[in-house]
Amino acid sequence: MKSSKRDIRALTKEQLRDFFVANGDRAFRGNQVYEWLWSKSLHSFDEMTNLSKATREMLENNFVINHIKVDSMQKSNDGTIKNGIKLHDGLVVESVLIPTDKRTTACVSSQVGCSLNCKFCATARLKRMRNLNPDEIYDQVVAIDKQSRLYHQKKLTNIVFMGMGEPLMNYNNVLKAIDKITSDEGLGMSAKRITLSTSGVPKMIKKMADDEVKFNLAVSLHSAIDEVRTSIMPFNSTFPLEDLRESLEYWYAKTKRKVTYEYVVWGGINDTKKDIDALVQFCKYIPCKVNLIEYNSIDDPQFQQASESAINNYISNLEMNDIVVNVRRSRGKDIDAACGQLANKS
Ligand code: SAH
Repeated sequence: MKSSKRDIRALTKEQLRDFFVANGDRAFRGNQVYEWLWSKSLHSFDEMTNLSKATREMLENNFVINHIKVDSMQKSNDGTIKNGIKLHDGLVVESVLIPTDKRTTACVSSQVGCSLNCKFCATARLKRMRNLNPDEIYDQVVAIDKQSRLYHQKKLTNIVFMGMGEPLMNYNNVLKAIDKITSDEGLGMSAKRITLSTSGVPKMIKKMADDEVKFNLAVSLHSAIDEVRTSIMPFNSTFPLEDLRESLEYWYAKTKRKVTYEYVVWGGINDTKKDIDALVQFCKYIPCKVNLIEYNSIDDPQFQQASESAINNYISNLEMNDIVVNVRRSRGKDIDAACGQLANKS
């Protein structure tokens, strides 16, 4: 039977305090419970040891604590761990732990499935089922931090919103989650270590700038030519590059923070000099850097990683124009945990 009790983590701290006052207790009790729920990440009222039995029962009668469960775990040879995460309603998303020498990164999902239809991305094959709630995003980070400590003896250092879904299409919940992740009442992580990756929703990029967010922005560009971009990322016809450019200029004017462009080079799609020139031109609009991402096959013959010489052409042309470019090797490919491979296969 579906519970009619409220999910307690949907309440703000103020609302929790009010709840206790309304029930004849002190507001302070709300702070205690809030701490158990967020910074201590407890999933049961019974473990809240500084509350009386009566209080715990009262909470039990009024609320549930919805939480995620790590349902499956696959370990890659390179230390990457892919998690199948079961949500309280049985739906599944994936989150990935990516350890490198200097950092340990959590790649988290923001939606179940995705509504965009990027032709090269495995997640696009899953219908968008729903947005994740703030606590479901937060819990992924907590779970991956635990794994990082357990398997790599290091705490989590970075978070990227590059799992399933388009974070700017679940903006409010993503922002609430980041607030909790960065707050001292949550995980106290620095916003500078968080990157939100978007396919580029201009209106929302401007909104983020207006909201003065402190995390980093990455845009999945893949082409700076409208026709090409629309052919591989169909929503580009609704949000063309000119609008994206304008929103990024707005972002930079307000935040003074560089944007990262993510870019995969495919043979026969975006590997000509014309494609390179367009990217170089696009990179001149605002300070930025380019991450050339290795393509992770999703078994579609149309998409093949470009030749090494095509990639080197990109690198030399970008560098000639003083644009910072990094080549990102994929991690966790052997377990389908790399960018664009998250599709709940198991
Ligand atoms: N919707 C967001 C975040 C999820 S995708 C976004 O579009 O940015 C995370 C990154 O993986 C994006 O840069 C995306 O373009 C890239 N990606 C998707 N499929 C890929 C694939 N098969 N190989 C390599 N990168 C891929």
